[in-house]
Amino acid sequence: MSIKDDDKKYIANSYGRFDLLLEKGEAGALFDDENNKYIDLGSGIAVNTFGNADPEWKDAVITQINTMSHVSNLYYSEPQVKLAKMLCEKAGMSRVFFSNSGAEANECAIKVARKYSSDKYGDDRNVIVTLKNSFHGRTITTLAATGQDGFHTSFGPFPGGFVYAEANNLDDVKNLVAENNCCAIMMELVQGEGGVIALDKAFVQGCEEICKEKDMCLVIDEVQTGNGRTGSLYAYMQYGIVPDIVSTAKGLAGGLPLGATMMGEKCKDVLTAGTHGSTFGGNPICCAGALSVLSRIDDALMADVKKKSEYIFKSLEGAKGVKSVSGLGLMIGIEVEKEAKDVVNALFKKGIIVLTAKKKIRLLPPLNISMNDLEKAIEAIKDELAK
Ligand SMILES: *Cc1c(COP(=O)(O)O)cnc(C)c1O
Repeated sequence: MSIKDDDKKYIANSYGRFDLLLEKGEAGALFDDENNKYIDLGSGIAVNTFGNADPEWKDAVITQINTMSHVSNLYYSEPQVKLAKMLCEKAGMSRVFFSNSGAEANECAIKVARKYSSDKYGDDRNVIVTLKNSFHGRTITTLAATGQDGFHTSFGPFPGGFVYAEANNLDDVKNLVAENNCCAIMMELVQGEGGVIALDKAFVQGCEEICKEKDMCLVIDEVQTGNGRTGSLYAYMQYGIVPDIVSTAKGLAGGLPLGATMMGEKCKDVLTAGTHGSTFGGNPICCAGALSVLSRIDDALMADVKKKSEYIFKSLEGAKGVKSVSGLGLMIGIEVEKEAKDVVNALFKKGIIVLTAKKKIRLLPPLNISMNDLEKAIEAIKDELAK
């Protein structure tokens, strides 16, 4: 039996996989079962911040594996504390809760926002405004938080307490806040799965204003936008806001599962002993990987991300077969005339891996992709779209 056949037989069929069996990764390149080489513009969905098997990251992770692999959260352990301190110092936040994924980081964010309000105003003030076309995860509660009807089927009943506003429509948010007992507004600053759409600054700042006025929590989901992806350590740093709660995951540990929910001054004491927990969360190996990643996200790297982003926008905007280009930093959506899936498959044959988001082509290359590889890939994409 082939691996693909066994996959279909033994793995839950919840993924519509592309016809590609990958066996090896080296920096920004992936190799399939016939040793064909691909330039990877997907990073395992924004996870491999510095590509596959990055030497520095590998050293940090292997050193930690040889030292101590797991102890649970019943005890103190250094990698977790070092990482929390680095996150707080770099992000201007006050405390961190560690979990294993984006959905879990958002679950924690939702719990903190609700408990902040419950502690101060009682249990009735629990509604969270999220945005239409958002994506917040696959657990039952984060599905409920996701503002897309398509995600609200088959698994009901879903927990209540979420209302959905039109993105970039501040009046809609204001009306929902007036009509409901709200404790938070939660949003991605660049809607990733929704089609790589960056929100307007004025809208985001307006939401921050509402949260301040009503003592609600501003929750920013940086699961995909975080960790240098958009050209700043976190995307909110480009929006001139200070969130109360920030969730992140994907690129944080450079290929290992780690979620983080950061709390600002307002919420830092909300979680008390026994109110939340995780067995694996903040595992020493994952934290060692994250320390390696985070310590390298500096001004020089961010300037480089912005330069590469400008190059991609300039090359693709107005190109044949391209309707529009959207996004921020190295999180880019390309609205194309062709069927996105067909473009992805055609690019495989040319040795380029890209993703989709809704009907768009989505690019999430490793932040340290070489200019040479990037140019090669963008030229191949242009050629394919112009055909
Ligand atoms: C991917 C993603 C999630 C879910 O993360 P998982 O690690 O798959 O649970 C949540 N929010 C956003 C914005 C994401 O892009």
